[in-house]
Amino acid sequence: MLHNIRVVLVNTSHPGNIGGAARAMKNMGLSRLVLVQPRDFPSEQASARASGADDLLAGAEVVDSLEQALVGCSLVLGTSARDRSLPWPMLDPRECGAKAVAQAAGGEQIALVFGREHAGLTNEELQRCHFHVHIASNPEFSSLNLAAAVQVLAYEVRTAWLAAQQAAPVAEKADASEEPATMDEMERFYEHLEQTLVQIGFLDPEKPRHLMARLRRLYGRSTVNHSEMSILRGILTETQKVARGEPHKRKD
Ligand code: SAH
Repeated sequence: MLHNIRVVLVNTSHPGNIGGAARAMKNMGLSRLVLVQPRDFPSEQASARASGADDLLAGAEVVDSLEQALVGCSLVLGTSARDRSLPWPMLDPRECGAKAVAQAAGGEQIALVFGREHAGLTNEELQRCHFHVHIASNPEFSSLNLAAAVQVLAYEVRTAWLAAQQAAPVAEKADASEEPATMDEMERFYEHLEQTLVQIGFLDPEKPRHLMARLRRLYGRSTVNHSEMSILRGILTETQKVARGEPHKRKD
């Protein structure tokens, strides 16, 4: 079940932090590490800091974009040391661990996303996450070392996982159409939604304001399942047809 929870490190500068993160993960029983454009990897410094967690480094997936790192995920938890301009649903590390474990137990893929040492995650990256996680810290010195932040969340995942071992077995799996849409499906939906909104003149590409970010926040809050996703995509397709003056479903 813990294999369904991946740790994604975005644009890490220091290979030592990748090694430290791998060690923290292995200590807590996590094994899937995904690196988005690391500056220096593989590296001896990473292996030295991993001290015994080299297998995680050897098995790490290196990808070009956050989007690729999130393929297949239906829950994305992004970490941030600071408040951002558009407030997002927040979790503390304990709630994050509990949510990740509850959904991983149902067979879903979960991502915990960590940012760059100097700049964290961009607003755009954070808007791809369902929730933001803030580790309570001194407001005057709020950023933890990257590997230390991974340690805190990995520990909370383990704590929640241990508690789940004691609890009753999970209920039977719902049928596939009830399962939540994955991030890649959601991304295709957002592209389709944006195109349609531009087409009907609701979204001005010159002045997009925060419309797409707000819509991402709205849909991200309501776990959209596969059958609901087909309805939403169907509505967009029909809207586009009407906007183009093409024949559409209701022929009256
Ligand atoms: N200077 C950056 C901080 C980067 S710290 C900024 O202001 O955003 C590197 C990464 O560690 C962050 O992107 C985040 O993933 C994690 N991190 C550090 N401190 C954290 C905190 N207090 N809460 C949540 N994540 C934190």
